[in-house]
Amino acid sequence: MKIAIIGAGPRGIAVADRLVARSEKEKVNVEIKMYDPYPIGGKVWNPMNKLNHSLITNTVVSQVSFFIDDSIENPGPIRQGPSFYEWIQQIAPEYLKGSSVGKTYLDKLDLKENDFAPRGLLGLYQQWFFENIRKQTEKNSSLAYEQTEIKAITPVNQQYKIDFSGTSEKFDFVFMALGYGENKYNDEERTFAEFAKRNKLSYFGPANPSETNLDDIPATQAVIIRGLGLTFFDYMIMLTENRGGKFVQDGEQLKYIASGREPIIFAGSRSGLPLHARGRNQKGPSEEYKPRFFTKNNLKNLKNHTGNLDYNSFFKLFDKEIQYKHYENLIKDPDYSN
Ligand SMILES: Cc1cc2nc3c(=O)[nH]c(=O)nc-3n(C[C@H](O)[C@H](O)[C@H](O)COP(=O)(O)OP(=O)(O)OC[C@H]3O[C@@H](n4cnc5c(N)ncnc54)[C@H](O)[C@@H]3O)c2cc1C
Repeated sequence: MKIAIIGAGPRGIAVADRLVARSEKEKVNVEIKMYDPYPIGGKVWNPMNKLNHSLITNTVVSQVSFFIDDSIENPGPIRQGPSFYEWIQQIAPEYLKGSSVGKTYLDKLDLKENDFAPRGLLGLYQQWFFENIRKQTEKNSSLAYEQTEIKAITPVNQQYKIDFSGTSEKFDFVFMALGYGENKYNDEERTFAEFAKRNKLSYFGPANPSETNLDDIPATQAVIIRGLGLTFFDYMIMLTENRGGKFVQDGEQLKYIASGREPIIFAGSRSGLPLHARGRNQKGPSEEYKPRFFTKNNLKNLKNHTGNLDYNSFFKLFDKEIQYKHYENLIKDPDYSN
């Protein structure tokens, strides 16, 4: 059976993993080919993009793993393997020796289990994981990867013809794991872009910051960043730390030491408020909070005759859970009880 996976990001890699694991168990021979114009890890985690080594992931390292466990419904054969943090500790020092990031990379990062890693390092974990799946393929199965873009897919009889770089190939099944597409400007964004063009200014629409070139923005130039979500932090790092500035701890706060090469950033969001900072992780790896009130069963019981849930009863249940956990934490907190 010939299978194509388009996209070498996390989803494409996860599909490859499950196909190989299942084919092994069910003794089916599969020939899997994966395609992406970016290296394994895909566009978001591409370890070859230098910026992905200064922009970070938004999940702490101990809570990321490519190995599935039985918390997934109907997962197929489970293979044990290291979480991202365990990989950083146990495998990466040797694995990264010959890689583009160099020997001292991990030492400089000095990642602890509740730290956020650079995206490029997660890309390297994905590359290691992919190599690991390849080693699991049975004698008559294979998993290959080609760095190329798929131009078209056409159904032909019971198969699919895939076109890439001047040639084509037929497959029995195709998985499309394409991630986010390119954004087209909406009317408002088009107005901004046109205004910028008329006034010889620069406008950067919604995009992946690591693929946006900010080098032409001179020091002390005024820059407006619209929105204070995750993309804001990418642009802020690119315009501060990546220009030689440093954030240093000053008591409970961070102090910024400018390099003098930064633009002047005016930041704002439509809601008028900065988004909530991410809570400090207090759970161990794979540890899940088990709700007492906000359970599947209670949610099911709240459904009315049309099968819908009204917002007030949903919120009441949710609020109960949050309050319960909050007061439980307070009671257990020695600083509070004393
Ligand atoms: C800037 C940014 C930062 C993010 N940060 C985080 C984070 O910190 N934590 C988190 O959990 N999630 C984050 N995400 C969300 C991220 O999209 C998912 O974590 C994850 O990458 C989704 O995996 P995916 O495989 O579905 O898509 P992607 O990772 O986007 O991979 C899809 C791949 O398909 C390829 N592709 C598309 N079209 C073709 C074609 N025609 N031919 C061949 N290949 C093709 C693309 O090149 C791409 O590599 C971030 C997303 C972005 C854009």
